[in-house]
Amino acid sequence: MAEKKKISIIYTGGTLGMRLTKKGYAPASDLDGLLRERLPELGSASLPDYELTEYEDPLESSNATPRHWYDLAERIRNAVDGFDGFVVIHGTDTLAYTSSALSFLLSGFNKPVVVTGSQIPLVEVRSDAAGNLIGAMQAIATGGLSDVSVCFGRYLLRGNRTTKVHATELDAFESPNLPPVAEIGTDFQFNELNVLPPPPDVLAVSPSYRDCNIAVLRIFPGMSEGLLDAIVGAGAAGIVLRCYGVGTGPTADRSFLAALRRACNAGVVVVAVSQCLEGRVTLDRYAAGSALSDVGVVSGYDMTTEAAFTKLHTLFALGLDGGTVAGLMQENLRGELTRG
Ligand code: ASP
Repeated sequence: MAEKKKISIIYTGGTLGMRLTKKGYAPASDLDGLLRERLPELGSASLPDYELTEYEDPLESSNATPRHWYDLAERIRNAVDGFDGFVVIHGTDTLAYTSSALSFLLSGFNKPVVVTGSQIPLVEVRSDAAGNLIGAMQAIATGGLSDVSVCFGRYLLRGNRTTKVHATELDAFESPNLPPVAEIGTDFQFNELNVLPPPPDVLAVSPSYRDCNIAVLRIFPGMSEGLLDAIVGAGAAGIVLRCYGVGTGPTADRSFLAALRRACNAGVVVVAVSQCLEGRVTLDRYAAGSALSDVGVVSGYDMTTEAAFTKLHTLFALGLDGGTVAGLMQENLRGELTRG
């Protein structure tokens, strides 16, 4: 008989463990007590054994900063030898940033990490917490995973392809440009193509936290060059530029284009992703996109904003120069993009 797996569950905060206060739901400690009371089946013989670690100050995930990703990755790395896999309980609001960041920060890590949470707190009736948490544990128990995934509602998704698409529905996450790793019904229906191990690691080392200044800028009609200049003036090392459609912007506006050129010439890495939920950036499809690449904007292909943002952060945290970062942003490092 196969040996029972042992999982580390790390409770960082989020709705799953929240309690109602006068001001609305807020993070609460003692998830252990709550799990014993509300979810005794976690101790069932059919589930892997687990050890729970709770953050001293559980986070409302909208307060998470990049430092949180690096701390979490370090905790996981430090505990790697004792466990077959890791479940991270996280708030949904920035869950996709954390799951994307972990995929880059745990480069070369060969154990499954499954990030989950819930839309309804465990203390409430009809909570989705039990299904999501048990689903995350079972996903690890299947034995086929080795990278970072998100387990939520009916889906197991690749961590760095995931984005939050619903504020209130229980299937809150999707991976718009990659089919789910598994669909979760009465059992796990794995899509074997997406379970393949990620491509060989280009990054040999995992960076420590650094204060890297990365910005996200969504293009909108009439956007002024002043916004770009202000971001560059604030010291941005990289910008995720959320372009229209397949990668276009107001390139007939000479001052906007000149501001972009100034940014790129100053060494800021500007990466184009699409504002559309699905599809990819192809900068040379339209003249209005070619003009972006002519001034130095690079394609983010089909990356989510979260993947592009956290990838820029972790590459700069490695101390790489802008040219190298721009090159790597266009490469598939951890299964986060398909060049097409
Ligand atoms: N605001 C909460 C958080 O992100 C939402 C959630 O967990 O679902 O921490």
